[in-house]
Amino acid sequence: MHTYQKPLDLVRERSPERPVAFARPDAVAVAARWFQDKFEGDVFYAVKANPSPWVIETLAKNGVMAFDVASIPEIELVAAHAPGARMAFMHPVKSRKAIAQAYFDFGVKTFALDTHEELQKILEATKGARDLTLMVRLAVVAEGASYSLSGKFGVDLHEAPALLLAARAATEGKMGVSFHVGSQCMRPTAYQAAMAQASRAIVRAGVMVDIVDVGGGFPSIYPGMVPPDMVDYVDSIQRGFADMMVHEETELWCEPGRALVAEASSILTKVELRKGEALYLNDGSYGSLFDAAHVKWPFPVKLYRGEGDAAHEVEGPLKPFRFYGPTCDSLDHMPGPFWLPEDIREGDYVEIGMLGAYGVAMNTRFNGFGDAETAVVHDAPMASMFGLAGRTIRVPRESQEDERKVVRLSRPKGRAGKSRRKR
Ligand SMILES: *Cc1c(COP(=O)(O)O)cnc(C)c1O
Repeated sequence: MHTYQKPLDLVRERSPERPVAFARPDAVAVAARWFQDKFEGDVFYAVKANPSPWVIETLAKNGVMAFDVASIPEIELVAAHAPGARMAFMHPVKSRKAIAQAYFDFGVKTFALDTHEELQKILEATKGARDLTLMVRLAVVAEGASYSLSGKFGVDLHEAPALLLAARAATEGKMGVSFHVGSQCMRPTAYQAAMAQASRAIVRAGVMVDIVDVGGGFPSIYPGMVPPDMVDYVDSIQRGFADMMVHEETELWCEPGRALVAEASSILTKVELRKGEALYLNDGSYGSLFDAAHVKWPFPVKLYRGEGDAAHEVEGPLKPFRFYGPTCDSLDHMPGPFWLPEDIREGDYVEIGMLGAYGVAMNTRFNGFGDAETAVVHDAPMASMFGLAGRTIRVPRESQEDERKVVRLSRPKGRAGKSRRKR
């Protein structure tokens, strides 16, 4: 991968014909260190948010050595790019073959389930293994998420006690509960509320759990969607954990996807045509802009114009535009609005920010498009949850470095990889 200080340097060097995805390992490093420093438990990265090898490697280099995986290809990816990492197979529905391969070939011992049938499958596929860590996925009622993740998975709370008892009896290893409050959760208290529901199920079952896994859902910043400070989320989780009916040694886990990687990628696209307020770009809903099209998610944008040394960022008076992607499908439409200089024209480049989570990773080859190259850049993301003041939009490069220094200095020694116990 080529490295540039900032995207404009690439535009100056060669006006790219195809979209370019920018990788910002610095942003992943800052987020990884923030979570380890502030979250009082074990941090598992949810690989599906962005399975790029550079993401896995950067996380591992910055101390995140636990991964939430959902398939054998994800397990192989983590094994290849973070050798020795811990993995938890958190998909509640797995094939027998995938369970056996995970357990026998990759040493994965943690499996999620939300039915008695899946529990039976796990026990049979591991040939009656007694050292499993079994995680019962609960369907919690959570408010404040922009994407619900409870519709498809999770055992209903009134059916949970029987499943908790069955899982407890099935292993001599650990047993825990997990849930997902929904992605891009805008309300910190959703975690505390979910933990109270989990606690009631545990009490009704009359079992002890060894692990409470609060899942993902930690938000990032998008235009018009500025969440509370990330510290409020870990505080809510701490309060929720303190109120739960669990024992002294119960571990706390989380599985952030979006929050660790959203800031870390953007995509550089070219304007192929302007029709009024519609811009036809060379990337779209079958490329990195799945959420922009299907959930009508807004993303921040920047405009670059010109070639060679004359290339520059254009700021000028802004107006709202909508985007069309390059494929012939009419679904390939991103309503935005995307605020760009009003004189934007064919040949200009639009950098679309905050596409590190569920963005650059969603790329397909439909209609012959989607073949984006990746370049590394060291500028700041367009927005950040991890700036010096807890959160600043457009973190300057210097403050990002300061942030890293502060985080490194304030990290107590010897805590990495160990669960913080309940106090
Ligand atoms: C998708 C997913 C995550 C990550 O969710 P984010 O909202 O991206 O943090 C975590 N855990 C499970 C089980 C998931 O399916």
